[in-house]
Amino acid sequence: MKIILLCFLLFITGCSSPEENTNQIVDTNDDHEFISKTEFPVDNYTVFQGFAEANPGFDYKYHCADDVFASAGTPVKSMADGTVSYSGSMGGYGWLITIDHEEDSVYSLYGHLSTKRGKVSTGEKVKSGLVIAYVADDDEDGSGPIDGSGQYIYWTPHLHFSVRKGKISDFPSGEDDRWMAGYTRLHPTKFGWLNPLEYINSKK
Ligand SMILES: [Zn+2]
Repeated sequence: MKIILLCFLLFITGCSSPEENTNQIVDTNDDHEFISKTEFPVDNYTVFQGFAEANPGFDYKYHCADDVFASAGTPVKSMADGTVSYSGSMGGYGWLITIDHEEDSVYSLYGHLSTKRGKVSTGEKVKSGLVIAYVADDDEDGSGPIDGSGQYIYWTPHLHFSVRKGKISDFPSGEDDRWMAGYTRLHPTKFGWLNPLEYINSKK
């Protein structure tokens, strides 16, 4: 009986050992140097408003991100290893998370996240592919109710995803250069924003 119990315990602990879940890190070298990979923040990365598109709904300002179709509750993953530099509510974003990726000298930004679902906290270290939050429902994505009717049909649930050179503390201003800018009056590459789709494909 003791042996059976021990086997059972080994089976249980074996199933939940962290080694079995670390598919985020790829050991590619013989000298066991660990190389982190960069990946898309959601499965089925389908862009419906791309980087640097001028949006008539925002006074024809340029979009600093890719807007990606994702239903409410879709898990959102860190694109690479890094440190959560902001996790909190932020105006029209609903819940917003940024991650500084020190190794690559860029940061990533994830907007319209769910407030009521689980999410990482500011200061946490994260690995590439770790679920950091979930896409928001219509009533928590920052759009607000339209015309006071209580209806939240302003925009469809989606992820607003940006990549930028530097770290958020490099951009303290409240102007076009601000760290959480969603749209800019000048082309976003002037402020160090990168095309997220091209950036991730270039790192693969
Ligand atoms: Zn957007």
